[in-house]
Amino acid sequence: MDFTETDEQRALRAAVADLGNRYGYSYFTKQARSGGRLTELWHEAGKLGFIGVNLPEEYGGGGAGLYELSLVLEELAAAGCGLLMMVVSPAICGTIIARFGTPEQKRHWLPRLASGSSIMAFGITEPDAGSNSHKLTTVATRDGDTWVLNGRKIYISGVDEAEAVLIVGRSADAKTGKLRPALFVVPTGTPGFTCRPLEMDIVAPEKQYLLFLDDVRLPADALVGEEGAALLQLFAGLNPERIMAAAMAVGSGRYALGKAVGYAREREVWDVPIGAHQGVAHPLAQVKIELELARLMMHKAATLYDAGDDMAAGEAANMAKYAAAEASIKAVDQAVQTLGGSSMTAEFGLAAMLASVRTTRIAPVSREMILNFVAQHSLGLPKSY
Ligand SMILES: Cc1cc2nc3c(=O)[nH]c(=O)nc-3n(C[C@H](O)[C@H](O)[C@H](O)COP(=O)(O)OP(=O)(O)OC[C@H]3O[C@@H](n4cnc5c(N)ncnc54)[C@H](O)[C@@H]3O)c2cc1C
Repeated sequence: MDFTETDEQRALRAAVADLGNRYGYSYFTKQARSGGRLTELWHEAGKLGFIGVNLPEEYGGGGAGLYELSLVLEELAAAGCGLLMMVVSPAICGTIIARFGTPEQKRHWLPRLASGSSIMAFGITEPDAGSNSHKLTTVATRDGDTWVLNGRKIYISGVDEAEAVLIVGRSADAKTGKLRPALFVVPTGTPGFTCRPLEMDIVAPEKQYLLFLDDVRLPADALVGEEGAALLQLFAGLNPERIMAAAMAVGSGRYALGKAVGYAREREVWDVPIGAHQGVAHPLAQVKIELELARLMMHKAATLYDAGDDMAAGEAANMAKYAAAEASIKAVDQAVQTLGGSSMTAEFGLAAMLASVRTTRIAPVSREMILNFVAQHSLGLPKSY
């Protein structure tokens, strides 16, 4: 076990922080409030090799692991400009295609996802299924050489920026008629694919969409991997998603803590800076400890994932996402308290972070579903639902 990052990892961290600080939170909120995107930052990060750092070198990626990808997102978020689509495009979609795609799917998609020239969104959540993915009703039916996909998806991030969406549906077993999970790459221009933006109350440049899949006809090679193995494949992508969600949360928490500490050092309303009062300093110290603990679990999860231990990585990824969400919510809340009235001004922008950081307790997997997982799988308690 080694808690010291390599020279390469430290250099990557410094280079990403440098890029993030050139854009920063003012760029992020300006784009979010004007309906813009983070396109310039995304492309610059892509050119520098940050977006596809985890993808195989032979397909244009950096050949490193999820540890490095999560490091990139953590540092961008810590600079105030986390790229949500990194959770989806290189982490979920890139990983699943790199591990289970056909040679043609790899050749086509991985260089694009690695350079950031293409973004792939990910659609699993459905209006009537929510946390219960066993109730998914998006179904793909074979019709000769093609698949015909029908269903609805909700809260799908970044569809407007994406060239395709990796859709989690079901396919009917030809012999038994039983439905089995299956993953399909659906280009957003395919006839029958339509989407509608949802009006969200989050200050963020990435938008969420309702998707309508009406008789979407796809070629046979739109199916990623094997029909029967889709659950295993799905988790190969969902564990990276949880680790990346943790990275985004830890980074956002670090950003908020940095703002709070800076303010607590400067602001004087009695004869000393407010940070001299333990009522202000101790909660910030607690936030620091809890963020570091979450970060440690995130590193453990990424290290296990990169070592190929999917089972152990699954437990650690859930725990990391839980811990990071709780720590970042507390960090932003405490930063808001530390800044007092200033936190509510657009100049400081901390109040705008409340909703986005609060989302991490719900998505991509809710706090309760993680507790269900740990109760059942780590503690061996009976399933309650
Ligand atoms: C900003 C944002 C971006 C998103 N991006 C994407 C995306 O790109 N792709 C995608 O597929 N999805 C995306 N989602 C969806 C997200 O993954 C879901 O919101 C999340 O999985 C929870 O599902 P739900 O909202 O349907 O809640 P529900 O499943 O309806 O749950 C509601 C509440 O009930 C609790 N609950 C449900 N079942 C149980 C149980 N058995 N035990 C205890 N408590 C329970 C939940 O924990 C939650 O608190 C996004 C959501 C948001 C808010």
